[in-house]
Amino acid sequence: MKVAIIGGGAAGMMAAAAINELNPKIEVFLIERNESLGKKVIISGGGRCNVTTGIEEIKTVLQNYPRGGKFLTSAMHAFSPTDVYSWFEHHGVPLKCEKDLRVFPVSDNGRDVVGVFEEIFAKNKTELLLGHAVAGIKKENDSFIIKFRNQPEVQADAVVLAVGGQAYRRTGSTGDGYAVAESLGHSIAPLAASLHSFFIQEKWTKQLAGVSFANATITAKGAKSHSRTGAFLFTHTGISGPAVFALSSLTAHESFGENHPLEIFIDFVSEISKDELTEQLKKLIAENPKKSFKNTLHNFVPAKLAGLICDELKFPAELKNAETNKQYLQKSVEWLKHLPLKATGRGAGEEFVTAGGVKLSEVNPGTMESKICPGLYFAGEILDIDGFTGGFNLQASWTTGHAAGEKIATRS
Ligand SMILES: Cc1cc2nc3c(=O)[nH]c(=O)nc-3n(C[C@H](O)[C@H](O)[C@H](O)COP(=O)(O)OP(=O)(O)OC[C@H]3O[C@@H](n4cnc5c(N)ncnc54)[C@H](O)[C@@H]3O)c2cc1C
Repeated sequence: MKVAIIGGGAAGMMAAAAINELNPKIEVFLIERNESLGKKVIISGGGRCNVTTGIEEIKTVLQNYPRGGKFLTSAMHAFSPTDVYSWFEHHGVPLKCEKDLRVFPVSDNGRDVVGVFEEIFAKNKTELLLGHAVAGIKKENDSFIIKFRNQPEVQADAVVLAVGGQAYRRTGSTGDGYAVAESLGHSIAPLAASLHSFFIQEKWTKQLAGVSFANATITAKGAKSHSRTGAFLFTHTGISGPAVFALSSLTAHESFGENHPLEIFIDFVSEISKDELTEQLKKLIAENPKKSFKNTLHNFVPAKLAGLICDELKFPAELKNAETNKQYLQKSVEWLKHLPLKATGRGAGEEFVTAGGVKLSEVNPGTMESKICPGLYFAGEILDIDGFTGGFNLQASWTTGHAAGEKIATRS
C-alpha cells in the first residue's frame, strides 16, 4: 500500500512515524513544500518547543480547546499528553515539565523534536518529497492522484492531509489545504486568527509598553462576554501575553475594528473585591497622610501605572493622601478594577494558530478518516480544532496525526 502524507509539520510527521513503526511494510511519501521538515515545530515555544502539556487528566486537557475539545475526546484518550511525553522520551528526547505545566525538551531546542522524526524516516520506508508543493488532489476510483506544479504526480491508496492552517505563513502553512479539502467534498468552518495580541485605541497605554502583570482579569465584551485571569503585558501597540492570547482565542470569531472596537476591561487587582480594595486604600490613606497618593496606589500596581492613573484622572500633581476625598478614592478604585479599553484590531500575521477549518462533523473522530471521501484522512491544524497556549495545539497535532497513522497502519 502507498500512503501520501501531505505536510511535514507536527501532524504529518507523527502520522508518518506511526505508520512506519506500526506497519513498516507500508510505503509512505511525506510531501513537504519546504526544503526541510517541521519549520513551525522548530520555532514553536520561542524555539524551545512547548511539545505538550503536563496536565494528565484528559477532561482538563480537553477544556483547553475552545473549538474541537469534544471531537478530540476518543483520540486524546488513545494518544494523550502522557503518551506524547513517553513517546518522545522513548525516542531519545528527554522532556521536562515546568511549573506552569508546559512541557519542553530538556535541551530547550525544538530541533531535537524534529530530529526524532528524521531518524525514524531515515530508518524506515518513508520517502521524503521535500520542495514539493501540492497543487491539487484528484480521486480516481479507489486511488488518489496528487498533483504538483512542476513535478510528476504521485499516486497513493490513502492520503493524510496535514498541511496546517494559515497562521505564520512564512513557515509554509499558507492555507492551501482548505481548497484541496473542498475539492474532495469537504466544507470549511469559518477561518479566523487565534492566539494573538490586540491593538488598543487608547494612546496613553504606549507609555506602559513592557509593564507586565502576573494576575489580572481581562474581560472582552463582544456578542458574548469572555474573561481570563492570568499574566499579560502592555506593548507599544496594545496588550499581549498569556491571558490576552486566551481571550483572543475565545473571541476569535468576533468581528471588530477601528470603527466598531471590541470593549475590553481590565481588573488589575482581581484577587480582592472592589469593597476590599476601597477599605485597604482607606486604611493606607489614614495611616500615611503625608505620603503621595500615587505611591499609595503603587501598593497595588507598578509605579508607572500608578502615575498614569493619577495623570489620566487629572488628579493634582503630587497629591498627598491627606488631600484625597471620596471621589479620588472611588475613581481610582474604578480604574484599578474596571479599566475600559477599546481593541481596534488583531496582531494580524503574528497569530499562532488558525481557528476554523475542515468541519469536524465530516471526519471520524477516532480515525480522522473523512466521512465523505474514504481513504482521505485529516490531521493537525487544518481541522476545526484549536487550543490555548501551553502545548495544546501541538498536542492536537500529535494526537490527530497518530490516530490517522494508526488507522492506516492497521487497515487491512
Ligand atoms: C510562532 C508559533 C509558536 C508556536 N508555539 C507553540 C508551542 O510552543 N506549543 C504548541 O502546542 N503550539 C505552538 N504553536 C502552534 C503549533 O505550532 C501548530 O498548531 C502546529 O505546529 C500545527 O501543526 P500542523 O502539522 O497541523 O501544521 P504545520 O506545522 O503548519 O505543518 C504543515 C506543513 O505543511 C506544509 N504545506 C502546506 N501547504 C503545503 C502544500 N500545498 N504542499 C506541501 N506541503 C504543504 C507546510 O510547509 C508545513 O510544513 C505555535 C505556532 C506559532 C506560529
